[in-house]
Amino acid sequence: MNKFWLLMVLSSAWVHAEKLHNQKHDELLVINAMVVAGVGTPAEGPYDIHIKKGIIHDLKASKDDSDLRKEIKQQIDAKNGHVLPGFINMHAHSMNTRAGIDMSQPYQHYLWLSAGITTIRDLGSNLEQTLKNKADSTKGDIIAPRIFVYPGIWGNHTEKDLKARMSDLLKKDIDGFKFGMMDKQTFNAASEIAQKHNMPVANHVGVEDMNAWDNIKAGTTTIEHWYGVPDAALHGVQNFPADMNYSNELHRFRYAGRLWREAQPEKLKQVLNAMAENGVAWDPTLVIYEASRDLQRAVTSPWFQDYLHPGLEKFFQPDADSHGSFFWGWTSEDETHWKNNYQIWFKALRQFSDLGGTITTGEDGGYIYQLFGFGYLRELQLHQEAGFHPLEVIKHATVNSAKVLGQGNHLGQIRIGYAADMVIVNGNPLADFQVLLPRNIKPITGDETTGGITWTIKDGIPYHIPTLLKSVKDMVKESRAEHKIDYLVN
Ligand SMILES: [Zn+2]
Repeated sequence: MNKFWLLMVLSSAWVHAEKLHNQKHDELLVINAMVVAGVGTPAEGPYDIHIKKGIIHDLKASKDDSDLRKEIKQQIDAKNGHVLPGFINMHAHSMNTRAGIDMSQPYQHYLWLSAGITTIRDLGSNLEQTLKNKADSTKGDIIAPRIFVYPGIWGNHTEKDLKARMSDLLKKDIDGFKFGMMDKQTFNAASEIAQKHNMPVANHVGVEDMNAWDNIKAGTTTIEHWYGVPDAALHGVQNFPADMNYSNELHRFRYAGRLWREAQPEKLKQVLNAMAENGVAWDPTLVIYEASRDLQRAVTSPWFQDYLHPGLEKFFQPDADSHGSFFWGWTSEDETHWKNNYQIWFKALRQFSDLGGTITTGEDGGYIYQLFGFGYLRELQLHQEAGFHPLEVIKHATVNSAKVLGQGNHLGQIRIGYAADMVIVNGNPLADFQVLLPRNIKPITGDETTGGITWTIKDGIPYHIPTLLKSVKDMVKESRAEHKIDYLVN
């Protein structure tokens, strides 16, 4: 093809995309789709997916001259690619500023959608802003994933204080609670109130007098990260050195890296089994600790060049005042401990899954060198590294996460009657999760398969990912020029 024709084909593809991007269509057809349903079954197709008023209306074997194709003009061609259910990010924090720098909201929303994330569970943020985003996203008025809001309550409180705070929150349009680093009394009192109002609870346990056994008794919905699980399998307490100071984040992350090896395998199996039996799900957020095992990898992520906001860049710099930015004295010994830590953690996850436990996927982006969306896609790779088949990993990201949100009948599957949330990938993520990375996006030219998510559809509204990513690049460029920050990227 000569240059002139190539340009014509590319520009017509772009014009076509413009007509579809961010439009509410009564009907939409995704044609030539190899469908990964989400439930763990292999890809099948090609199908034409008929979307009507935001819902998956029908799936039909693809046929070039079908009546449906003649009837419905709004079409997205998924040829040479795969179509997956929209991903669910179970550990998100909405942020409008970072390190005192304005990071106005489209930035984060665009990055999440660009990673195929159509739903987030917000575990603590600026509540009023997030509730407004939730309402606007539900109406399709802003370009954003759908949002489930779990405001956070941290630390220790009296019962009276908890009652007052939680009943205030219950008057708002919230979907659950996040509890963090509470002692046993606070946690039990808070759990009781949540249970009385049928509110799911996500719990970030710390080094406390409570652990996963308390979660099992209280009926916690998800254990976030992993603290509390190995703690429940120790001989007494962890073998901390005498000068350990829990208020020092360097100490805290250093000795966390030595925790899993102290878990007693028999005790661990009992606690994992009890979690599985009592329906306590596990949202491990493997990615948010990856810098602990490989700092260099985290600091030099190739996507920082184009997409890292200067507010995040500043926040990630080692600083005792920024949560998770503890790398001022990180050693090769620390990394070695963390590498071993991961191996035992992976094994525990597989064991938990084998015992019938539910595993979900979340990223906790905005901390510890993890960028929104990119962190989530890395989380999928880490689930694969833990020993799960790619189809099982997709299930963690879709069906399992939807179930834990109480949305198992509406979200997380490519299935007739479900919300039309889907990810259209130019390539096969079951062969290589890296094809999901936006840095692989190149224009689609004829039959060439080049990788990258091309469209993310939420509630039947298609978002063209190269278009969103271009906006993100522009936002980053503008903010960098204003703040002159280039510690990591220059
Ligand atoms: Zn978090």
